[in-house]
Amino acid sequence: MSKIIAPPPFLKGAAKAAAKPSEVIKERSMLLQKQMLGDLFHDLTTAKDTGRKVVYTFVPGNLSELILAFDMLPVYPEINALQWGMRKKSGSLIRDAEKYGYSEDVCTYVKCDVGMFLNGNIGPTGEKLPPPDLLLLSYTGCFTFLKWFENLQKLYPGVPTAMLHTPYAADGVITEDMVTYMVRQLEEDVIPKMEMVSGKKFNPEKLSRHLGLASESEDWISKIFDLTKIVPSPIDAYFAGVYYIGPINAGFRGAESAVEYYHQLYLEVAERAREGRTPVTPEGELEEERFRLVVEGPPNWTHFREFWKLFYDMGAVVVASSYTKVGGLFDNGFRHDPDNPLESLARYCMGCYTNISLPERVNLLEGFIKDYKADGFLINSIKSCNSFSAGQLLIMRELEQRLGVPVSFIESDLVDPRYFSYANIKNRLDSFFQMMDQRKRVGGRHQFSKPEQTSSGEQCSMILPVLQQEGAL
Ligand code: SF4
Repeated sequence: MSKIIAPPPFLKGAAKAAAKPSEVIKERSMLLQKQMLGDLFHDLTTAKDTGRKVVYTFVPGNLSELILAFDMLPVYPEINALQWGMRKKSGSLIRDAEKYGYSEDVCTYVKCDVGMFLNGNIGPTGEKLPPPDLLLLSYTGCFTFLKWFENLQKLYPGVPTAMLHTPYAADGVITEDMVTYMVRQLEEDVIPKMEMVSGKKFNPEKLSRHLGLASESEDWISKIFDLTKIVPSPIDAYFAGVYYIGPINAGFRGAESAVEYYHQLYLEVAERAREGRTPVTPEGELEEERFRLVVEGPPNWTHFREFWKLFYDMGAVVVASSYTKVGGLFDNGFRHDPDNPLESLARYCMGCYTNISLPERVNLLEGFIKDYKADGFLINSIKSCNSFSAGQLLIMRELEQRLGVPVSFIESDLVDPRYFSYANIKNRLDSFFQMMDQRKRVGGRHQFSKPEQTSSGEQCSMILPVLQQEGAL
C-alpha cells in the first residue's frame, strides 16, 4: 500500500481527501511542528503566571535569536492575522477596525490585528494573547510596520518601544557603515531595553549559541527548497512552503527544536524526491506535474484551498516563490554568524527580500526561473500590500523581456475576503495555463526532458549524488 503524507494541519478536511486513496501517515516533521507551535501558544497564554516577558515584533527582519537569548516570548501580529484569514474569520475583524476609523486602503494585516485587539485580543487558537511587555520594531522595507507600531503604542500605552532602523539596500550593496549604524542601535537602544524589560543581563555567549543553531536551520531549509529543482518537484514550494516556513518565522529560528524539525523535514522531502513523487495536495498526491511556476507575492489566506485548487487541478506546481523568503533570504548563502553576532543580525535584516531593491528582486527571480526550470512566472498582487505590490508590473515585464517566459498577473488580498474574486482569478489562470501549454507543445524554451527513470522509480540522476552526499539516502 502506498503511503500518502497527510497534508498540513491548517488544511481542514484535507486529511480526509488525501486519505481516500490510501492510509494517511502523519510525518514526524508535522508532529514536531504541531508540538512546537502548541508549546509556544501555551507559554504565551501562561506568560503572566510564569513571569515570561512578551515581545510583539514582525517577521521580516525579526531578531528571533536575541529574543531567545533573553528568554522572552514573541508574538507576530502578521502570523495571527493570516491564521485568522485561514479560519475565514478575518473579515469581521477588519470591518470592526474600519468602524473604529481605519480606512479601506490600510493594510489588512493591520486592520485584522486592531480588530483582534478590539475583540479582547483573542488569538486565532481561541486563547487570549498576553499584552506586550516590549514593542520591538525591527522591520525591513515596509513603512506600514512603522505606522502599525505607532498604533500599537496607543493601544498599549506605557509599553516600552525599541526601534531598529534598517537602511534600505537601494543599490544592492551593504556597506560597513550601514552595518555599524545598525550594530550601534542594537548596542545603544535595543539590547538595553531588552535588559530592562526582561530583568536579565545580555549574555553574548548565549546569543552566539542561538545564532549557531539559526545557521543550522537555515542550512536545512535551503536544502529543502533546493529539492524543488528536481523534476518532478517533490513538494509545492508555495502552498506547502508557507507551512514549512512556519517555525523559522514564528520565533524558532535559533532554537534547537527548529534544527530538529528542519533536519527531519529534509529527510522526508529527500525521500519523496528519491522516489520521484509529486507534491501532496488537499486531494492527495498530484497525478502529474504539468507546469512548473515561480510565484511572486504572498498568497491569499481567506480562500487558501480554493486558490491552491486552481493550480493543482491543472497540474501546476510552484517550484520557487519570493514569499517563502520573506523571513530571510538564505539562497544567496547568508547565514547568521555566531562569531559576529550583532553584525550578522544587521546583515540579516538588510538582506531580507522586502529590503532589497527592484533590480535585485528581478535578478533573484530570474535566477529562480532558470535554476528551478520554471515554465512560467506568476504575480499574485496584494491589494493592500504596497510593499510587495509596488513595481510588480515592472518586474513582470522585465522578466518577460529577459527570458521570454510566459507571465501572468492576478490580484487578491491577504486577509480581506471582499477582494477575492474566484472567477477573475480563474479566467486569468486559464489563459496562463493555455499559454504555457502551447509553448510546451511547440517546444518552447522550458521544454524539459524528464530524467531517466529506473525500475525502482528513482529519478533525477543529477540530484541523486547530492542527496547521497548529504546522507539523506
Ligand atoms: S503592507 Fe505588506 S509588507 Fe507591509 S505590513 Fe502590510 S502586508 Fe506586511
